[in-house]
Amino acid sequence: MDALRNRLNRITHLNQAAAVLEWDQETYMPEGGAEARSLQVATLRSLAHELLVDDETSRLLESAQPESDIDGDVIRVTRKDIEKAVRVPSSLIAEMAAASGRAKGAWQKARANDDFPVFAPHLEHIVDLCIQHAEALGYEDQPYDALLDQYEEGATTAQVAAVFSELREDLVPFVKELTSSGMLCEGPVHREFPEEDQWRFGLDMAKSMGYDLNHGRQDRSAHPFSTSFSISDVRITTRLEKRFFNPAFFGTLHEAGHAMYEQGIDPALEGTPLADGTSLGMHESQSRMWENLVGRSLPFWEYAFPSAQKTFPDALGNVNLEQFYRAINTVVPSTIRVEADEVTYNLHIMLRFELEQEMIAGRVAIKDLPEAWNDRMASWLGIRPDNNTEGVLQDIHWSLGAIGYFPTYALGNLMSVQLFNAAQTDIPDLHDQFRRGEFSHLLSWLRTNVHHWGRRKTAGDILQEVTGSGLKSGPWMAYARSKFGVLHG
Ligand code: ZN
Repeated sequence: MDALRNRLNRITHLNQAAAVLEWDQETYMPEGGAEARSLQVATLRSLAHELLVDDETSRLLESAQPESDIDGDVIRVTRKDIEKAVRVPSSLIAEMAAASGRAKGAWQKARANDDFPVFAPHLEHIVDLCIQHAEALGYEDQPYDALLDQYEEGATTAQVAAVFSELREDLVPFVKELTSSGMLCEGPVHREFPEEDQWRFGLDMAKSMGYDLNHGRQDRSAHPFSTSFSISDVRITTRLEKRFFNPAFFGTLHEAGHAMYEQGIDPALEGTPLADGTSLGMHESQSRMWENLVGRSLPFWEYAFPSAQKTFPDALGNVNLEQFYRAINTVVPSTIRVEADEVTYNLHIMLRFELEQEMIAGRVAIKDLPEAWNDRMASWLGIRPDNNTEGVLQDIHWSLGAIGYFPTYALGNLMSVQLFNAAQTDIPDLHDQFRRGEFSHLLSWLRTNVHHWGRRKTAGDILQEVTGSGLKSGPWMAYARSKFGVLHG
């Protein structure tokens, strides 16, 4: 067991070092360093991969004598990781890396010039490689299952599609009702918010929620993210917009939510493959909970608004709590996913989920994708993108070969409400605590029920054990109705 743990430690260290280099690339590295940096990262990642799939690792797994439940889980999860890793031929991995490198360049050009045909042949190639990837990984029902499983272990296409279509039946008419009510105004968040004050205010609030800055820090990057170098060093990044309060503030809470998950993993799992979030959906449930269920709630702002007014006297001095609360919860259908509000966001995801399945199953030709995108957008959200830059070309994911990734965003939204409801059953005065600026009970509930497990339990198991049921759309829809129904009269 010691020898196995030693080896897993070395693999982990290589991956963590690669993460430091990637973080530097997004935050401080001069642009000219990109080519050398990507080679360095590739070297570290491939060394880690080689060590993992090496016969010696399998030999150690065979002979290791587990002395605890954690040891048993280390062996079980590492075995599964290796099984998956060896199924995909390294030639296919190399081809995907090369193809996505070219596709990313073509996507950037296509997006800048609203020129879908430049990207189309690359996307066709990526889809083809993803199908090969799915065949190599194996699946029971359909190839998309294998792609989804990479990001959300154990979830199946049929199961996710059933939950999403149930949600959409309620959500599409609900969005129409909300947008026709004419109740909201975004004004107060589109004023002058000095950048250094935004920085300090966001970080102060993340800290009061429990993001531990002795084991974390925040830096700037074009696209916000969180990343873990170990359980004791989990970083976040944010971006600042001078005349818009939301991106930095709610972005900081979102990334801090991801980071608190990683900071809460049982230290006994450090150096093993278990020291990670259990799925992307579960990860997103944590970021969405702190961003939306806490950070966009009225009780939270009853606590935070006075200090927001003190911090931003020019922007918020003549705004009251009610106006501000409405402004941060405005529902306006937009064509851009990353700018979408809490309610319409899930529809952006469902659209991508359907189109991905159709691409993989060959039911939509790549050249027809823009039309298919725009038609669905118009029928679900009531708006039609003016061009493909604001439509099918807006996201980077497909150019990177990340097909099967999008649904995890919406799964996270649904899980966040299911988990929050369970927390509220255990801690009935949760909202009163928020009014007093107390978040430690919620955090320690999440630590116990979700965080400390790392990858020892799957997202499905955690959900079942904690909430007594699997993934459901009903709780999220009920939450949206009660919050936004009231807001929109
Ligand atoms: Zn996230």
